[in-house]
Amino acid sequence: MAGITIESITKSFAGVTAVDNVSLTIEDGEFMVLLGPSGCGKTTLLRLIAGFDLPDSGRIAIGDRDVTDSPPGRRDIAMVFQSYALFPHLRVSDNIAFGLRMHHVGKDEVTSRVREAAELMGIEALLNRYPTQLSGGQRQRVAVARALVMRPSVILMDEPLSNLDALLRLQMRAELKHLLQDIKTTTVYVTHDQVEALSMGDRTAVMRDGAVLQCASPMEVYDRPGDIFVATFIGNPPMNIVRAVARDSVVKVEGVEVALPEASNLPAGTEVSIGIRAENIEVHTEALDGALPATVAVIEPLGSHLLLTLAVGAESIKASVRTDFAVKRGDPLWLELRQGSVRLLGSANQSGPSD
Ligand code: ATP
Repeated sequence: MAGITIESITKSFAGVTAVDNVSLTIEDGEFMVLLGPSGCGKTTLLRLIAGFDLPDSGRIAIGDRDVTDSPPGRRDIAMVFQSYALFPHLRVSDNIAFGLRMHHVGKDEVTSRVREAAELMGIEALLNRYPTQLSGGQRQRVAVARALVMRPSVILMDEPLSNLDALLRLQMRAELKHLLQDIKTTTVYVTHDQVEALSMGDRTAVMRDGAVLQCASPMEVYDRPGDIFVATFIGNPPMNIVRAVARDSVVKVEGVEVALPEASNLPAGTEVSIGIRAENIEVHTEALDGALPATVAVIEPLGSHLLLTLAVGAESIKASVRTDFAVKRGDPLWLELRQGSVRLLGSANQSGPSD
């Protein structure tokens, strides 16, 4: 096993900067997720770690080896592709054995390692089949077994679950997490699915326009997003972003004072944006000191809870309430922003992911 050190890596393709001066340290045995919208540079960063592309500048080390200019075969990595990339003319057992044979591993050892990897992935019964005779989930397992069998220092996964249907995806997500926790191999996992990122990774690096905006534990990224983009890209619904005006250690939202958990040091009168998660809003049916008066605009029953869209002056805020909360469109409500969960997210004119 080995950690990965990425130092000031930049990569451009014909004038497009795909990865822009990224530095990232991935610990030995860590599960790091690269998360971001399409085109943000996740796959390019993964390919640079793998050695399929070489950076224009910067340095990559795996363990204490500088691999910046090494070919993929010399990096002690294994990659799982979105398309699985199985050889259609080879049986499952030969697909899994392929890399070992390329490395001239002895026949008996190949047999025992293929069996071991197949057992780990629960595909022993499929070893004699061809890829076309497998379901999507089974192909995905073979692709992972083919990576594991190499016992690499680092496993790189590029959207490995995105070809599966929703239910299988959910199941494989938990299975993969369990497996990778057990084998404790350093893993870098690319996805644009924030649920996958939150549920699987030890840490998540959120990317946009080739840069890493924030790298932290899933709970930290969810609860304390570094900026408006991260706040609105992560979480369903996205964090509510509300315009406010700073005044000492409080902000004023639609004329109501809201306390910030930390002193802002902003000059009084500065326009800011604050973030609050839907589940951190206490909804009251009667007026309450310090609560924001709101009107119910939309009610969405989501099975486990109701998601309310509320008009607060010119702002639109989403709050979740229990399914037995009696409410109808047009009702007046009062919103109490839970102490300690309001986040200051910078100036009011910063843009979100849709801009
Ligand atoms: P997706 O989720 O859609 O796969 P991504 O975040 O993985 O997106 P990349 O594939 O890394 O993004 O692409 C980042 C940027 O670099 C994009 O603008 C893309 O068009 C560009 N790019 C990537 N590879 C190449 C290439 N080989 N030639 C030209 N441009 C490229």
